[in-house]
Amino acid sequence: MSKTDDISVIKRQFLASLNHEIRTPLSGILGMTDLLLETPLTADQKEYVDSARLCAENLLELLNGALEFSALSASHVRVEETEFSLRETLDGVTAEFLPKAESKGLKLIRNFDSRLPDAAIGDAVRLRQLLVNLLSNAIKFTDQGEVELSAFGHTDQSSVSLSLVVRDTGIGISPERVRSIFEGFQRLHNGLLSDHSGLGLGLAVSQKLAMLLNGNITVQSELGRGSTFFLDIPLRLPSETLKPEPEPQLEQSRGRILVVDDNSVAQTIASHALRRRAFEVQCAGDGLAALQAASQCAFDLILLDLQMPGLDGFQTVERLRQMPRYVETPIVAVTANCSEDYRDKCRRYGMQGFLAKPVRTKDLVQTVEQYCTPVLASH
Ligand code: ADP
Repeated sequence: MSKTDDISVIKRQFLASLNHEIRTPLSGILGMTDLLLETPLTADQKEYVDSARLCAENLLELLNGALEFSALSASHVRVEETEFSLRETLDGVTAEFLPKAESKGLKLIRNFDSRLPDAAIGDAVRLRQLLVNLLSNAIKFTDQGEVELSAFGHTDQSSVSLSLVVRDTGIGISPERVRSIFEGFQRLHNGLLSDHSGLGLGLAVSQKLAMLLNGNITVQSELGRGSTFFLDIPLRLPSETLKPEPEPQLEQSRGRILVVDDNSVAQTIASHALRRRAFEVQCAGDGLAALQAASQCAFDLILLDLQMPGLDGFQTVERLRQMPRYVETPIVAVTANCSEDYRDKCRRYGMQGFLAKPVRTKDLVQTVEQYCTPVLASH
């Protein structure tokens, strides 16, 4: 074995133990602060614990970035080739960023070409990671306006050239910086103490990942007007699923669901995931629209966002329960507030289920199936 090989083995072992040694106590800090946040705290104490948690999360992000960068630089990353659902991956990532975008008052737009095939073969984890990097930057560097994720592609017999575009209306990047933006440690050029956290490794990692997947990543940006990142990734198609799945027929419906959410992206994600699984879905944008829809049609389950303008979720439940048809219909609360107190409040208001935002498609479907199947079975 050469000296270089020796060093590379030692480096890999060092990184593996560094990863474990730092990640374990960090998980402890994160877990304990979570526990602490569930206990009664004064406003001051809650603020201190919240910032401690944020610091730990930032540290974990930095650690992940540094480890990923060095693993990719040393070509120690293997590409997985498995079949996955393209739509679920795109929907899942968008759903994950909804609360963050909402908390900054940004519109998160999702624009997916319906002709894109659903089943694809490739490395879904890496693809997801690339989108997470681009979307988190887009939201981080945008204070007003919108962030849009578009997906389209060119499909032939056995493959799809997937094009993903992440556009924001944020601070933009100067032409000098655009040239070196994918080089890594960009933040070091600017000084780490400026107003956004990060080592400046996200885009360097993204470019290495895109290359690993035989893809390509580029950017166009204008200072003060926003940036657009273009990501092209080739994927293979499984032989039997070249066409998008047909919409399920009405008579095969597994249940009628009312999705109540003031955010149209959240509505689209939920209705898309459920329709694909043969549920009938109607959406309502606020409490009053929900009551109106409920009076016109008998739903088997209601998914209810709790923080809405006008009638909030709790007021909506109260009114729904006064309608003879909805005395016992399962209602599942959908909210970013996961505290025990809040869950108790939902139970007191007669809601049967609880889904925490960001809602993963898997959890959404599981919950809906749990409440819908028995109702249909008894028909
Ligand atoms: P990090 O976000 O960890 O600082 P990145 O490699 O992801 O590192 O980004 C490097 C730098 O590129 C950022 O610090 C920022 O200055 C700039 N940048 C990245 N994405 C955007 C964006 N969407 N809008 C404006 N600037 C961006």
